[in-house]
Amino acid sequence: MQMQEEARKAGSATRLTACDCCIQVIIRTPTQHALIMQITRRLEFDAGHRIPSHTSQCRHLHGHRYAIEITLSGEIITTDGISEQGMIMDYSEVKRIAKEQLVDAWDHAFLVYRNDKAVLDFLNSLPNHKTVVLEVPPTAENLAMLAFKLLDSAYRHSYGNNLQLERVRIYETPNNWADCLRNSS
Ligand SMILES: [Zn+2]
Repeated sequence: MQMQEEARKAGSATRLTACDCCIQVIIRTPTQHALIMQITRRLEFDAGHRIPSHTSQCRHLHGHRYAIEITLSGEIITTDGISEQGMIMDYSEVKRIAKEQLVDAWDHAFLVYRNDKAVLDFLNSLPNHKTVVLEVPPTAENLAMLAFKLLDSAYRHSYGNNLQLERVRIYETPNNWADCLRNSS
């Protein structure tokens, strides 16, 4: 009973097996598959935008110091002796892919809704201006959704550890953010 109590305290499943000479307590520790492991990498970038149909301040041209948080799930890589042993993915690799797919394109750009004709015409009049034309107004929600779609296919595992993108969070300000989550149902 003492062993059972110790196992219960440790959060492990137990099973009693009776035989002729003793009662054996088998302690089943949780397997890695029963656990969900996630990592998150945060990057920041600057961009301009406006929400043309907004009735208050957001209709004016302005910018934000955005932050993007990328959350990945997967199994911990156990291959002995490789650089990624003990990781889901190297944080530097999460960053490299995010920059390549999105952050370098959006940083110091103006994010403009394609139907915001007045601003789009103005931006197009500026030689070599860094403009990103979006199919939807550049709200935090839409940016999070676009970022998720852009990044989802980019995060693929190299070690068979079922790596996948779970969440993209976009901070428009430190107090305002939007999450786009994988719907696993
Ligand atoms: Zn804004």
